[in-house]
Amino acid sequence: MNVYDSHRMASMLKDMGFIETDAQEDADVVIFNTCHIREKAAEKVFSDLGRAYLIKQERQNKGLDTVIGVTGCVVQAEDKEIIKRAPYVDFALGPLRYYRLKEVVEEIFNNREAKLLDTEFSAVSKFDFLPENKAEGGCSYLAIQEGCNNFCTYCVVPYTRGVEVSRPIKEVLEEAKRLVKTGSLELNLLGQNVNSYHGEDENGKERNLAYLLNKIAEIDGLERIRYTTSYPADVDDDLIECHKNLKKLMPYLHLPIQSGSDDVLKRMNRRHTKDEYLRVVEKLKEANPDIGMSSDFIVGFPGETDKDFRDTLDVVNKVKYIQAFSFKYSRRPGTPASIMDNQIEEKVKKERLQELQDLLFDYQLKFNQQSVGKVMPVLFESKGRHEGQLAGRSPYMQNVYAEADNSLVNKIVQVRIKRASTNSLKGEVI
Ligand code: SAH
Ligand code: SF4
Repeated sequence: MNVYDSHRMASMLKDMGFIETDAQEDADVVIFNTCHIREKAAEKVFSDLGRAYLIKQERQNKGLDTVIGVTGCVVQAEDKEIIKRAPYVDFALGPLRYYRLKEVVEEIFNNREAKLLDTEFSAVSKFDFLPENKAEGGCSYLAIQEGCNNFCTYCVVPYTRGVEVSRPIKEVLEEAKRLVKTGSLELNLLGQNVNSYHGEDENGKERNLAYLLNKIAEIDGLERIRYTTSYPADVDDDLIECHKNLKKLMPYLHLPIQSGSDDVLKRMNRRHTKDEYLRVVEKLKEANPDIGMSSDFIVGFPGETDKDFRDTLDVVNKVKYIQAFSFKYSRRPGTPASIMDNQIEEKVKKERLQELQDLLFDYQLKFNQQSVGKVMPVLFESKGRHEGQLAGRSPYMQNVYAEADNSLVNKIVQVRIKRASTNSLKGEVI
């Protein structure tokens, strides 16, 4: 979601005449779009800001002005503290307010004494104000839903991104068509809780994600559809049908479980048990036997016992994830779990994370090894690490590298897989 937001901000600045640069030393405007989900991400912002301030001073010595802005969830959570801790920051906008970027940057340039902070949870949708966007390449993100009403006890999202809001069907379809027309072959529909999507159609009737997926699949020229991130309790039968019937829907689903222990899930305020989750996976595999699953895991949630942790490993052994993201529980201020008893010590969290990741990487490597010898359609997205090489994605989101001409970027090409490692595949264009 932050990548999507960053692209939208970059395109607003381009509309104002700014040019993107990789070198911070050359930038007249520097914006940090921030994440508050775990402590490490949030703290990194302040060290990055410190570095930006040094560059600002160096530029000042050369007579150059630099505007520093911060956007995203850290702003929403820290509010005035941002400007207090980093007084050289010129403006700070919450994740629902960055549509004001143009006017804010103009105002700052007009009055260099001004400090602008906006963390309103406004009733208006930012999407009504954002200028039209174009494809970012062969693969584009498209935000269809934002915010979350689930209030998992460890999570800051409902406090930083606000309540759940779905964009209307027509608006999403217009954006989807525009992205395809300007070069996207793949769309990844985004939402913190994407499968609880309930956008209104033109008659004011609420429609679910399955309805939207069917409509999007009708767009000529679009080859691949993904959606992320889903909440297990909100996977309905219509959505499962899509995995059976929609050829454009990729055979890969990110469906976080967080923990395999019912006790922990309950204290996390997740609305599903381990067995309910496994049943959803089973139904998805019945609908499409080729589907590959991915998940998020948290280890060391307050009160997690060794037995609870073994239940998580059990889920991994049952589902055999082809990819996964796993984290040590991070105590987030203001969340109910942060004041729960029995916080787990760092050493235990570290050991559990290591054990879990060893197992997850094992399955991931096995899955990647099964790809060797197969021919698969790869959407090349960029240059690879080596000269003459391109990097792309398989239908299963695997990173694939192959020697290929630059003209194949943003195209789907058949590639025979030759070698596999845990994180990538190497192949040959055929
Ligand atoms: N809405 C999605 C993802 C939300 S955030 C979902 O419910 O799955 C992405 C991931 O960050 C979560 O799935 C969770 O695994 C992790 N996460 C969120 N809060 C965390 C915390 N306090 N400590 C560690 N990991 C956390
Ligand atoms: Fe956070 Fe996801 Fe839970 Fe919402 S469903 S509170 S975004 S972890």
